Amino acid sequence: MNQTLLTPAHPNQHTTKMILRFRTKDGMFRVNILENAQFAEALTELSKQLSLEGASSLTLSNKPGSGGFNVEEIKNKSISELGFKNGELLFLDYQKDVPSQEPSKEASQGTVAINSKQLELDDKLDKQQGLIVRKKTPLCRHSDKGMCEYCAPLPPWDKGFQEEHNIKHLSYHAYLNELNENTNKRGSSTSYISPLEEENFEIHKKCPTGHAPWPKGICSKCQPSAITLQQQRFRMVDHVEFADSSIINNFINPWRLSACQRFGIMFGKYDEYDKVPLGIKAKVEAIYEISQLDDEDGLTLQNWENEPSILQVASKLGLVPVGYVFTDLTDAGNGDGSVLCKRHKDSFFLSSLEVLTSAKFQNSHSNPCKWSDSGRFSSKFVTCVLTGNSNGEIDINAYQVSQAAEALVSADLISGSTHPSCVFIKKQDGERYVPEIFYKRVNEYGIAVKVNANPHFPVEYLIVSLTHGFPQETNPLFQCNSHFAVENRGFVGESQDLPAIKSHFQSFSDMQVVRSQLSDFHLLCYLCSESDVLSDEEKQIMLQFVKEGCSDDAKFYHLVEGPGWMTMVTILQEGF
Ligand code: ZN
Ligand code: ZN
Repeated sequence: MNQTLLTPAHPNQHTTKMILRFRTKDGMFRVNILENAQFAEALTELSKQLSLEGASSLTLSNKPGSGGFNVEEIKNKSISELGFKNGELLFLDYQKDVPSQEPSKEASQGTVAINSKQLELDDKLDKQQGLIVRKKTPLCRHSDKGMCEYCAPLPPWDKGFQEEHNIKHLSYHAYLNELNENTNKRGSSTSYISPLEEENFEIHKKCPTGHAPWPKGICSKCQPSAITLQQQRFRMVDHVEFADSSIINNFINPWRLSACQRFGIMFGKYDEYDKVPLGIKAKVEAIYEISQLDDEDGLTLQNWENEPSILQVASKLGLVPVGYVFTDLTDAGNGDGSVLCKRHKDSFFLSSLEVLTSAKFQNSHSNPCKWSDSGRFSSKFVTCVLTGNSNGEIDINAYQVSQAAEALVSADLISGSTHPSCVFIKKQDGERYVPEIFYKRVNEYGIAVKVNANPHFPVEYLIVSLTHGFPQETNPLFQCNSHFAVENRGFVGESQDLPAIKSHFQSFSDMQVVRSQLSDFHLLCYLCSESDVLSDEEKQIMLQFVKEGCSDDAKFYHLVEGPGWMTMVTILQEGF
């Protein structure tokens, strides 16, 4: 049986994006930074989350108790020159003349002063109450204009509604509204409390009480408290929508041709999802297939060398990476195209290794959030598996892992295993302090009991399931109906090169054809990231043209009558 579909490679290890962590007396902060950026930039980013106004005698060190750096001296050095690694934990100390932890007046009224830019979508949903409207019922004893307990609107977190509509987890914003209702009652004069807090299971290596760091010393102040795992009540994203079924069909092709599994990064955007109160969906427009070694029973990811330039192309098209997808498909051997159902309630849905991979992806795509003190909370990065359902059909399953899973992986407390349904807890050592970990389950008498999770616990405690589907009326961003060759598919005979462009367009004189054939994500990635035939300006116009739905004549003719395009057409027509 296929047990470890995804080898836990480190998908981002050779890219230059990284995270620096700053531990301060005002809390822990994370800063996203490029490896070659100056340290001053990291401080600017940090000051967006933490007010350093009026702070004096800044000291910084990367080992608790060590001498540390002179901040003024290192400001103009790059992160890589300083030798800081991805995830590096830095200790920042300072003196403040004015107390900064007082909640501001603005905060006490329900909006937070912390300056982190969350998604516009989140800002929009923050303003909504998400009330569930109900109709007048036969039990109502009032006129059409009246209202009573049977017909009054329900809050978006209502349990009855959730069960009745088979919604497995509350939406993020319904959950947030419930927390705000409980911790920051509307109109209450008590000071604002951030409703969300990211779990942190790491031991505080620079204990505020001043004792020697772990493993030499430990106290209640620096020791992470015991962890109790339970099914997460909410999900950051509710639904995954594929703009068009051909996106999936095209992605499955390499498996059809080679029987090998395939991995891809899904590009799209987040939007409102109206099937659940205050819901969010990830809309997938394209799948980018990064470099990988595929096998019939699994695959290994390789370094994604051109990640920055692909992210840039996507961003100019208005797209972001919203998740990853992989296949776990085996032909059932019936000669009718049916596939084996390998993932079900008696085996597993996501293996422990896949959960670790998802947690790493989620940690590297963290969600800016104004409702937590750190300015971040969990992630909207989703995981999709294409595998056989109980009818032997190829189906999509969508998941996320819980915030606790993200924190367990950040603190390096868990590992996957050859038992796909079991997560193992790592052993404590001089570097790693392992707190007590429990999980809650309902026993044979129907009573909820706490079980010690050591040495392993069921993977389902870390998984959150999402729904998926296709829109009723498809309107994909990429309109082209014959697909251009997909990147990194040499092993099934697809290659992105000039002959591929020639056969994709067929004709360069029929402008209608050229116009629609341009609308292909893989073609655009190739022309903008891997080829220099077009100038930067021409690339920019082409991406803008496709982003706007291929309707702007001025942009189209500017492109196809420009020197870059003409040169390409000449080369293709005269042979190469
Ligand atoms: Zn009523
Ligand atoms: Zn301590």
